[in-house]
Amino acid sequence: MECNTLIIGAGPAGLTAAIYSARAGKKTVVLAGAAPGGQALETFEIENYPGFKSVDGVTLMASMTEQASAAGAEILYERAVKADLSLKSVSTDTEKIIKAEKIIIATGAKHRKLSLPGEENFIGKGVSFCAVCDGGFFRKKHVAVVGGGDSALTEALYLSGICDSVTLIHRREEYRAAKALADKVLSEPKIRRVTGNVTKLIGKDRLERIEVLSASGDVSSIDISGLFVAIGTDPDTQLVAGQLELDEGGYIVTDALMETSVKGVFAAGDVRATPLRQIVTACADGAIAAK
Ligand SMILES: Cc1cc2nc3c(=O)[nH]c(=O)nc-3n(C[C@H](O)[C@H](O)[C@H](O)COP(=O)(O)OP(=O)(O)OC[C@H]3O[C@@H](n4cnc5c(N)ncnc54)[C@H](O)[C@@H]3O)c2cc1C
Repeated sequence: MECNTLIIGAGPAGLTAAIYSARAGKKTVVLAGAAPGGQALETFEIENYPGFKSVDGVTLMASMTEQASAAGAEILYERAVKADLSLKSVSTDTEKIIKAEKIIIATGAKHRKLSLPGEENFIGKGVSFCAVCDGGFFRKKHVAVVGGGDSALTEALYLSGICDSVTLIHRREEYRAAKALADKVLSEPKIRRVTGNVTKLIGKDRLERIEVLSASGDVSSIDISGLFVAIGTDPDTQLVAGQLELDEGGYIVTDALMETSVKGVFAAGDVRATPLRQIVTACADGAIAAK
């Protein structure tokens, strides 16, 4: 099979790239894996995608998928399993080989989870992985943030501007985050620091309480409305690792036109090195990459 533009991944970045590429008259193929939609499918309420005061992820992504198909993009429910970027050739899990003039990698990223019982059920019901996305739902409430890196401390500071109080939980006394960020956290009166590991998530329909185990073996119970898990994200780059430049976090490095270190290969959305990972930024990346 041959096409002008091959897009790997059908989240907001891949689907927007598909809309722009197909509307430009290019034969566009999208590899969507099991289903199009990406991470946004995991969220019930999105309040920061312009044009919608509130929309659920499934509705928004179904609409983007429909728009990409209507524009003429061919969406295949297949996963890319092997890629030779220099030859612009990709094999899928149905053993199809697709050759393209240009490739756009839009495979996204995954938030690391705590792997605690009940965590999956509490996602969207108290457990969140993104303060910018969900902080607004916890206005004037008490929340906790887990993690000790730049993103955890940034999330804690962001939430301290919205919530009544924030408990920052990290397994060690010292933070891995930049010193300037740690200093800001230390001087923010709304942030309370706790050292230990979250060991239990408790609640009926929503998360209500967590238990934290300290290094000395003490267990404390904290009542909270929300728990923000900020222990890192993993970009989905196994397919292309070793073939193009990645940053120290494993994200794909691009120029302002989203082109990677391999000519004719572009990256868009959460998989690329970028300061903000949101639906709106993924869509913007996809549009630029397709252009
Ligand atoms: C719980 C949750 C809530 C969120 N809430 C918000 C919010 O309120 N507002 C907001 O703006 N953002 C929110 N986000 C973040 C937002 O969803 C992401 O920034 C956005 O989805 C990134 O889009 P993307 O297209 O780059 O990647 P993704 O959405 O991750 O999509 C990538 C797709 O590529 C597929 N893929 C990976 N490898 C392959 C392969 N080899 N072959 C084929 N397909 C492949 C993946 O399965 C996935 O479907 C939230 C995220 C989560 C997890």
